[in-house]
Amino acid sequence: MSADSTPSKETANPAVDGSELIRFDHVTKRFGTNTVLDSLDFTVSSGKHVTLIGPSGSGKTTILRLLMTLLKPDEGTIKVGGQYLTHEEKGGKLVPAGEKHTREVRKNIGMVFQQFNLFPNMKVLRNITEAPVHVLGLSKDEAEERARGLLDLVGLTEHIDKYPTQLSGGQQQRVAIARALAMRPQVLLLDEVTSALDPELVAGVLDVLRDIAHTTDITMLCVTHEMNFARDISDDVLMFDAGRVIESGSPEKIFTEPEHERTREFLSAVL
Ligand code: ADP
Repeated sequence: MSADSTPSKETANPAVDGSELIRFDHVTKRFGTNTVLDSLDFTVSSGKHVTLIGPSGSGKTTILRLLMTLLKPDEGTIKVGGQYLTHEEKGGKLVPAGEKHTREVRKNIGMVFQQFNLFPNMKVLRNITEAPVHVLGLSKDEAEERARGLLDLVGLTEHIDKYPTQLSGGQQQRVAIARALAMRPQVLLLDEVTSALDPELVAGVLDVLRDIAHTTDITMLCVTHEMNFARDISDDVLMFDAGRVIESGSPEKIFTEPEHERTREFLSAVL
């Protein structure tokens, strides 16, 4: 592993060739009688930054939770890197996947949550090295070298020996970003990562993410209410309403010339 801490090396993505990285085919998700996603189709190409916007309750977080396999679709299939996430092909048939298959496919995905979810009993360094050592099988030295590079990237080198509670919310969220990147995922899922932060801490986290978006080739799928950030980093914006994509396109198109009345209403309420 290189000691070089340049972001493009720390988050090197071996498969950025513009090919399809995520595919939702007719994905339906219900909670009881509430159909949250309704036969949803969409794809994300590798290296792209895609932002999901839309009113609260329109199903955006559910999409990220399905990709993390925290939830399973009721109907339809999800592919990551050409492989089914919760299904396997056996004897020419599609069957529910075993845990081992799903774990392998999920290794390509990293997620940063609203509430950081750091391990409170571990110092910053160990928070970042834990999964690379235990899941990827890196040596402690390799994992620590990788972690140091990432702490440099998120501007927290001097906090390496602290516990999460000794850090501000913004610093904890930056550790969470470093922890997700330490697994070198192909795709980074960001679920409203600034909405639990005090307003003065939001900019620091968004700056780190802008930096990652602009200097690395990692694919990003992002749910956010920060519309300026969405405009800065997105290649594509998907506007959701009631579990469907009602409009999609470049940030210029969506933010300046939205076609759909619901998009116009939503943007005038949040901008
Ligand atoms: P968004 O991220 O767009 O705000 P979500 O994906 O969080 O929307 O939620 C979509 C809908 O699914 C909401 O109506 C929400 O109440 C419902 N929902 C989400 N998770 C659960 C759950 N675990 N159990 C029951 N309903 C849920």
